[in-house]
Amino acid sequence: MIETNDPAIWRNFLPWPGAETHKHARGRLGVVSGRAHQTGAARLAARAGLRIGAGVVRIYCPPDAVAVIAPAIEAVMLTPFASAEALAREVEEMDAVVVGPAAGLDEATVANIQALASSGAALVIDADGLSVFKGRSAELFALLDRDDVLTPHEGEFERLFPGLLHRGRVAAAAEAAERAQAVVVLKGAETVIAAPDGRLRINRNGSPWLATAGTGDVLSGMIGGLMAQRMDSFDAACAAVWIHADAADRFGPGLIAEDLSETSPVSLRALW
Ligand code: AMP
Ligand code: MG
Repeated sequence: MIETNDPAIWRNFLPWPGAETHKHARGRLGVVSGRAHQTGAARLAARAGLRIGAGVVRIYCPPDAVAVIAPAIEAVMLTPFASAEALAREVEEMDAVVVGPAAGLDEATVANIQALASSGAALVIDADGLSVFKGRSAELFALLDRDDVLTPHEGEFERLFPGLLHRGRVAAAAEAAERAQAVVVLKGAETVIAAPDGRLRINRNGSPWLATAGTGDVLSGMIGGLMAQRMDSFDAACAAVWIHADAADRFGPGLIAEDLSETSPVSLRALW
């Protein structure tokens, strides 16, 4: 059964810090960056993860990207990695990891996702991390746990699930979650969120101001940031989709992706 993504469903599960908390207890989010000329997406996701409350956010990047990322974001730590094996070792301490935004459509991205899947961190896979499995989606699905989250827009969805959209977005998302055995967030004006156990929600507070570059990267960071704080992946995806749209509506005209993270605390405070 499909239900509207109403904050009443998940607002009591939003992670509020207790008096005795510390930054590691608030959740650790990793974000995997692309190469030196493709680092903006990781920064957008990382900042979104911090703003939604993860206590520690670390960007993992190819060695040549350090000099580009370091001066551009302050509260995020940076770890260079030279191979998928090294990445797997480095992310051991993370609760959740975002991978895919501007990752590059090459075998290195496949290898990184394979390595991350064996690490124990809950994954949010977006963008190139999805597209790179075009024609070989079974390989991706075999790597996933039920609390991992895929966040395709319709183009990326079509690459993983060819022809499925003809059934309509709601039925397609539900079937995709079943096939992938993971949470699927089918993005668009009315985003559909589906879990492999049959939970299904449609988001109705979508904002057309979101139709601008980089907003998907922000969403992946918001979902990962809530998952790092140990919110159930499906509820984390639902909450992030709603907050992302609410922040866009609050900002309104002129919104660029960077603004979403800065406005999301206002949305969060209103839910408190
Ligand atoms: P991406 O396609 O990865 O850049 O992500 C775009 C983000 O903006 C997703 O969260 C979409 O759901 C959202 N979005 C794009 N266009 C619209 C629209 N017309 N109305 C509401 N949300 C949108
Ligand atoms: Mg995208």
